[in-house]
Amino acid sequence: MIYQRFTEETVDEKGRLTGISFHPPEHFNFAFDVMDELGRTKPDERAMVWLSEAMEERVFTFGDFKRESSRAAHYFANMGIGKGDVVMLVLKRHYQFWFAVLALHKLGAIVIPATNQLMKKDFVYRFNAARVKAIVCTCDGTVADEVDLAMAESPTVELKICVNGERPGWRSFDAEYGAFPGEFPRPAPEEAPDNEDPMLMFFTSGTTGYPKIAAHSFTYPLGHVVTARWWHNNRPGGLHFTISDTGWGKAMWGKLYGQWLCEDCIFTYDFDRFDANKILPLFAKYHITTFCAPPTMYRFFIKEDLSRYDLSSLVYSNTAGEALNPEVFRQWKAATGLTLMEGFGQTETTLTVGNLLGAEPRMGAMGKPSPQYDVDIVDENGRSCVPGAVGEIVIRTDRGKPCGMFIGYYLDEALTKEAWHDGMYHTGDTAWRDEDGYFFFVGRTDDVIKSSGYRIGPFEIESVIMEHPSVLECAVTAAPDPVRGQVVKATIVLARGYAPSEELKKEIQQYVKKNTAPYKYPRIVEFVEELPKTISGKIRRVELRQEAQK
Ligand code: ATP
Ligand code: MG
Repeated sequence: MIYQRFTEETVDEKGRLTGISFHPPEHFNFAFDVMDELGRTKPDERAMVWLSEAMEERVFTFGDFKRESSRAAHYFANMGIGKGDVVMLVLKRHYQFWFAVLALHKLGAIVIPATNQLMKKDFVYRFNAARVKAIVCTCDGTVADEVDLAMAESPTVELKICVNGERPGWRSFDAEYGAFPGEFPRPAPEEAPDNEDPMLMFFTSGTTGYPKIAAHSFTYPLGHVVTARWWHNNRPGGLHFTISDTGWGKAMWGKLYGQWLCEDCIFTYDFDRFDANKILPLFAKYHITTFCAPPTMYRFFIKEDLSRYDLSSLVYSNTAGEALNPEVFRQWKAATGLTLMEGFGQTETTLTVGNLLGAEPRMGAMGKPSPQYDVDIVDENGRSCVPGAVGEIVIRTDRGKPCGMFIGYYLDEALTKEAWHDGMYHTGDTAWRDEDGYFFFVGRTDDVIKSSGYRIGPFEIESVIMEHPSVLECAVTAAPDPVRGQVVKATIVLARGYAPSEELKKEIQQYVKKNTAPYKYPRIVEFVEELPKTISGKIRRVELRQEAQK
C-alpha cells in the first residue's frame, strides 16, 4: 500500500498495531505524492463508485482523478487562485468535490468543506471568520441563493463558481474546467507549501456552541493511515462506505485520504435525506465490504427489520461521533454478526481512541488510545487519573505534535491557547479508564450533571434508557432544582407504535432505578417528537439545558 512509503509501523505477534511513525518528504502533497502517483501506476483501478440521488452510477479510476484534478487545478489557477488562498466547497457528495479538493491541494490553497444546509447568516460568519476568497458551491437547492444574500456582508469573497448548473454572476465549473490540460506539473520547492502550512480547515460541528475553525496541515492526510488501515480495515480490493456529508470532518476520515492511502475504493451515495430503507439495499447491490456511520444512523437501522436485507458482503463496521449505547452494539451484532468497532476523535484530530483491528471491544468502552497519540485522562490539576476516576481526555504534545493533529484554530490564538497549553491539548470530553486501559466515555465537560453532590455523566443513563423497547432516542441533561442544585432530566423520542403517557414515564423511571444506581434516575421525563441536533446529526444537549432554565 502506498502509505508504507511514508510511515513505519510496528505490530505485535497477533498483527495488531503497536506503534507508528511518519516520515513524509519535504513539501509532501497528497494530491501529487499519492493520487497522481496512483494515477500513474494504477490508472485503471477503480477509486470510487459514485451514485447520484437518482441512483445513476459512475465509476472513477485513479487515472480519472489524476486527470480531472489536473484540469480543475489549471482552471482554478487561471482565475487567480493560488497558494494560501482560502476556498470554501459546498458540494454535498457530488463527485466534483473530489476533483476540486485534489486540485486545490495541487495549488497549495486552503480548502474549507462546508455543508449545504448553511443559511445566509452562517455564510456571513464563515466567510468573514476564515477570510474566504472563493466559493465553489452546488447549484441545486437554495444554497447558492443563500451565498448571494451573504455577499453584501462578505467583502473577502471575490469568486463564485457553481457546479451542476449555470447561474448569473457565477462561473460554471462543469462547462469550463474540462477544456484545460489533464496534466498539472508540481510547483518548484520554493513555491510549494511546507509540510506544516495549512491545507484544510473545518468548522467543528457546533454541538456546544459556535463552530470553531480547526486548521490542518499538509501532513494531515497521513494522520488517517491509522483511521483507515487499522480502524476501518481498508485495503486494496474492498469497497468502503462512510455515510458522512463532505461538509463534516468525518468525511475526511472515511471518504478521502486514508482510503486512498490504503488503495481501497470509496463508495459514495449522494443522497439528500437519510432514509435507512434506501441505504440498506446498497450493501448487497454493490458488495460494500466496510462501513462507518454515527451511532444515530445505527439506531435508525436497528429499528428496521434488518432480516429483509442482505448485509453479508460486510466484513467490518465502525462508528464514531457520539457515544455508542451498548444496546445498539448488541442489536447490530444480533442482526449482522458484526462487532461494531467504535472510535473516538474530533475534527481537531484523527482517530484518537478506538477499537483498532484485532482488538476485543469491551461493552460500553470506546476502545484504547491509538499508538499515534499520547492520550491521557487528567484531573483539574493536570495530573494523570488512576483507573476508575473520571477526568478530562487530553493529548500530550510535550514531545511534539502528532501527525494528524490540527495546527490550531485559524486566526484565533486565544481560543487555541484555551484548549492547548502546557504541552497538553484538552479535548473537552470526560472519561475514565479501567485497569486494562479501556476508555469509557462519560460526557462533554459541559454536559456533566451535578446533583446533590454527585457528578453524573449523561451517557451512562442514556444507555440504560435506550434499552427500554419504547425508546428510539433520548438525551439526558441537567434541569435546575432548588434543593439538589440540578436534577436529571430525560428527553425521549418514542419508537413507532408507542404513545406518551404517565404510565410509560413511570415505567421508564422504574427501569432506570432498577438498572443503575438509583440516584441517577431521571426525576423529570419529557416526551418529544424529535431532539435538537446539529446539522451533522449530533444531539445538542446544550439546547435542552437552556430550555430547562427558562
Ligand atoms: P463543537 O466542538 O463545535 O461543539 P463537536 O465537538 O461535536 O462540535 P466534532 O469535532 O464533529 O464537533 O465532534 C467531536 C466530538 O464528538 C468529541 O469531542 C466527542 O464529544 C464526540 N465523540 C466523538 N466520538 C465519540 C465517541 N466514540 N464517544 C463519545 N463521544 C464521541
Ligand atoms: Mg468539539
